[in-house]
Parts: sequence; structure tokens; C-alpha cells
Amino acid sequence: MSEFDLINQYFKAAAVKRDDVVLGIGDDCALLSPPPGKQLAVSTDTLISGVHFPETTKAEDIGYKSLAVNLSDLAAMGAEPAWVSLAISLPELDHAWLENFMSGFTELAQRYSVCLIGGDTTRGPLSITISVTGFVSPEAVLKRSSAKAGDAVFVTGTLGDARLGLQAILNKSMIDKNLAFCIKRLNRPTANILAGQLLGVFSDIAAIDISDGLLSDLGHICTSSETGAIINLSSLPLSNELSHYYHQKPDWQKVLNAGDDYELCFCCSQQQVSALLEKFTKHGIPITQIGKITEVKGIQCLLEDGAKLDITQDGYNHFAT
Ligand code: ADP
Ligand code: MG
Repeated sequence: MSEFDLINQYFKAAAVKRDDVVLGIGDDCALLSPPPGKQLAVSTDTLISGVHFPETTKAEDIGYKSLAVNLSDLAAMGAEPAWVSLAISLPELDHAWLENFMSGFTELAQRYSVCLIGGDTTRGPLSITISVTGFVSPEAVLKRSSAKAGDAVFVTGTLGDARLGLQAILNKSMIDKNLAFCIKRLNRPTANILAGQLLGVFSDIAAIDISDGLLSDLGHICTSSETGAIINLSSLPLSNELSHYYHQKPDWQKVLNAGDDYELCFCCSQQQVSALLEKFTKHGIPITQIGKITEVKGIQCLLEDGAKLDITQDGYNHFAT
């Protein structure tokens, strides 16, 4: 099979149809028609086998996750996904693997009507680089720099599940524990597209997706906004599975540095809180207020009795020395 047959069979065939794709896979470039009045939101993420997912991860989960983590960046910007390109490096031509990879990828692409518009296919260690493009109205953009002292800090969903799932996969002695939910959270993260778009209706919301842990990612909002934050640990939303695993006494160091959940963290003014809660409830998206933005720099983590807990940031760092 030639490289071109492979592209036609697995990638071109999987592309979701969209009217704004004038020319998709097959030429030197894709030709696209962006909607007038919108800004384009563009983001790229690479996933390397053994770094971003365990080598034992199933192909369909890798396909799903590669797209999900990219869509998550669009969600955190308030953008509506439209186009995706896929650069994939494969150690060998394995038809079953490719079929399964594309089935996971396409499941999510179809859900959000994202069209695969091109990419690159090479031989080498397994690695996937995806670029996504979405549309956003200028007034609906969610920037990291928009937080202000006094703002309420929220997160969607629950925190720490994916890290626990990874721990369960890597640590065989945990295999008897019922952590299937957490493993699913690791392999099939939610892309909070609807949440991002609901937030765009409100003005000046700061947001980020939690890929490297709450402490690190809320830290990015604080740095960009030149603020600090207080996190009330007893308010953090935890899944039943995680609470049960920690016997209701969570390891905060781990939970606050847990990557891969791809929930959104966002900040809004106190005046926006009730309307925002109402909107999210209406759409059945769980959100939890976990703290507030402060003028004082740094992030303080408070226990229920108000005592400060020192947590060090130990989220994954590719170039840590
Ligand atoms: P070129 O040599 O001009 O860069 P390629 O031979 O790499 O073109 O690709 C041929 C066509 O197939 C292009 O339209 C390219 O975007 C598309 N393509 C290649 N690999 C992929 C992939 N993994 N997913 C989607 N489209 C792909
Ligand atoms: Mg090429």
C-alpha cells in the first residue's frame, strides 16, 4: 500500500463534511472559508507514546484523546471547533491499529462536526500532532488575562481522576481497585466545548483548561492577570471514585497537581455568579466555586478551618532539570 492509498483510506474517508471546507485532503493545502465577523482560534498539541499516554493505551483511545485535548484548548478560549489537521508518525503500517485510531478520532470529530482538512503521515516513533481551528466572536473570547481581584474561581466537573487512573495503570498493585472510571477519565477526557461557549455569553471571563493540574493552570491565569488566588480545599469537586480511593481524606498534593482532567477553570465577577450558575444548571453542566481571585500574588490553599496548607507545584514539566 502506498502512502497515498493510506491517506485516502484512513484519513480522507473519515473527514466530516462542512460547507466552509472549499478543498480538503488531497492537494498541497486545504482551502477554507472562515465566517465573516469571527476570529479564528488556533491551537496545536503533540501526544507522544510513553509520555502523553501509556504505551499500552488502545488505539481508539489514543485517537479520541489526541483530538479531545486539542478541542479542550478551543473550549478554554470559548471557540466553536471547525477544522483539524493531523500529523501522525507511525512505527509501522498496522491496518487494525489505524482503523481503531481513526474510529476513536472520528467519534469525537463527528460529535463536534470538526472536519479533518489535512495533515502529514510519516514513519517513526508513534507521535501525533494535531492542530485545531475554531471560530469565536471577539466579544466572547475567554482570555487568561481577564481575572480581577474579587472574582469567583470555578471549575467544571471533578478534579484528579485522570491522574489516579494513570496511577492505576502504571501500578499493578492497584489493579484490584475499582478505578475503571478514573482510567476512562484519563483515556477519554471531556472536551468542554459547550461550557466554553456558555461562558462566552458573559463578558470578560478568564478561563483555562486544566491539563497540568489546578495549581499550575490557575497559576497561569494569575500570572497573566497579575493577581493571586485562594483555593478552598473543602470545596474542590471530587468524584465518588476518588473520594473512596482516598478514604475521604484526599491527598491534596496529588489532587492539586493532577494533570489530564481537561476540565475548565474560570473566573467571573461576583455579580455574574448567579446568572452563570443558572445557565450551567439549565444545561446540566456541573460547576463548582472553589475560591476567589486576590490582589495578593501567589495561590493560597486553605483547609476547612482556614489553616493554610503548603502545596508545592509538581505538575509534569518536559524540560525539568
Ligand atoms: P505534500 O507532499 O504536498 O505535503 P502529502 O503527500 O504529505 O502532501 O499529503 C497529501 C495530502 O494528504 C495532503 O492534502 C495532506 O494534507 C493530506 N494528508 C497527509 N497525511 C494526512 C493525515 N494524517 N491526515 C489527514 N490528511 C493527511
Ligand atoms: Mg506532506
